[in-house]
Amino acid sequence: MFMLKLYNTLTNKIEEISNEKEIGYYTCGPTVYNYAHIGNLRTYTLQDLLKRFLLFEGYKVKQVMNLTDVDDKTIRDSQKEGKSLKEYTRFYEKAFLQDLKKLNILTPEVICRATEHIEDMVSKIEELKKKGYAYEKDGSTYYSITKFKNYGKLSKIKLENLKANTELKDEYDKENPSDFALWKAWNKADGKVFWETELGKGRPGWHIECSAMSRKYLGDTFELHSGGVDLIFPHHENEIAQSEAATGKPFVKHWYHIEHLLVNDQKMAKSLKNFYTLRDIEDKKIPTYALRFFFISAHYKTRLNFTWESLESAMNSVKSMIEAYALLLNYSKKVKKHKSKELEAFTKELENDLNTPEAIAVVFKKVKEIKNDIATYDVERASKDLYFLKEVDKVLGVLEYYKDKKLTTKQKELLEERNRARKAKDYTKADELRKELNKDGLNLKDTGEKTLYYFEF
Ligand SMILES: [Zn+2]
Repeated sequence: MFMLKLYNTLTNKIEEISNEKEIGYYTCGPTVYNYAHIGNLRTYTLQDLLKRFLLFEGYKVKQVMNLTDVDDKTIRDSQKEGKSLKEYTRFYEKAFLQDLKKLNILTPEVICRATEHIEDMVSKIEELKKKGYAYEKDGSTYYSITKFKNYGKLSKIKLENLKANTELKDEYDKENPSDFALWKAWNKADGKVFWETELGKGRPGWHIECSAMSRKYLGDTFELHSGGVDLIFPHHENEIAQSEAATGKPFVKHWYHIEHLLVNDQKMAKSLKNFYTLRDIEDKKIPTYALRFFFISAHYKTRLNFTWESLESAMNSVKSMIEAYALLLNYSKKVKKHKSKELEAFTKELENDLNTPEAIAVVFKKVKEIKNDIATYDVERASKDLYFLKEVDKVLGVLEYYKDKKLTTKQKELLEERNRARKAKDYTKADELRKELNKDGLNLKDTGEKTLYYFEF
């Protein structure tokens, strides 16, 4: 049976994930007003890691991710560029989805836009009004947090610090809780962005979108909810308040939060010029698998420090793993199912609160062994180790960056010619032929009599 234990922010304990066959998994997505920065991308990659491990353990997962395509920032910046909200946000939505692909993040089963769920949000707000948790003021509708007994149970924030005033902004004081807007009355700054509904002319607040959409796709209660630690308060606290007040049922069983990414030991900020997106990584000709591996190689609960050196070291690790894999393909293209101690150790480490550093250490012990012993391999041993690497890669997700191809006739001929030259001890010619094959995207590894190859990646 499955044994995944994961830290739960709500209970402050490491707890087992339930044994239900299908796991409902809501992951707060981006506000599509700009490119995602690498801090955001760490969160999405670690969310993917958990999903991949659940699939690895035999669960079915239904992942829902929202796209916030209406809020203060999207309206402000679309106006600055003189574009409609839709035209503006779709551009960054597309860029975001490309980023996910480049990081080999599995596509969520449901990706939902806030602007396409206004009715769901309005009916949820109406429900909260009816139950006495929401009130209207100057055309806007607010959530009254003192009405919700358990307010603060996730973030452990104290209601004594409650501010008297209401807040219309999407991002407000992180220290002091206050009533927040469920529906915002239209004002001039909103321009053409508004919906005419029974709540009046306006637009939804940010928090209500996740409560409305998670309920629509995952039901009143579901297993897993995730985001960066910066979302614990107020966003996730408010989601709980909205959802549990409306349904009277527990909202989420398990909260999975991912720590911050630092850059050169500092918090990322545009003013510090340490604000990187995936485009900055690509501009430096660093493959995106390096970033994926860099993210997953640290535990999700630790603050991870990004430096260009650490990214390069992650790149070299992936290269080493792919090389081992590609060298094995010289012996066998098929895997042989094989329950090994290493696979068991890898699984155990991840079942222990997703201990990726230790799980990866197990993999690299094997990678080293393969590279050391590759000259002595046979089909049987290679197909067993291929099975191991392919299994662990269901979680790590880096081997897919390697595309195995067939040798062209010309490459085959050159390889044979080079083998003859080596046999004849004509090393000058063998070297020339190696260079020619290298230029053609083929790397060679001589092991005694044999020459193994793998393609450039
Ligand atoms: Zn959310």
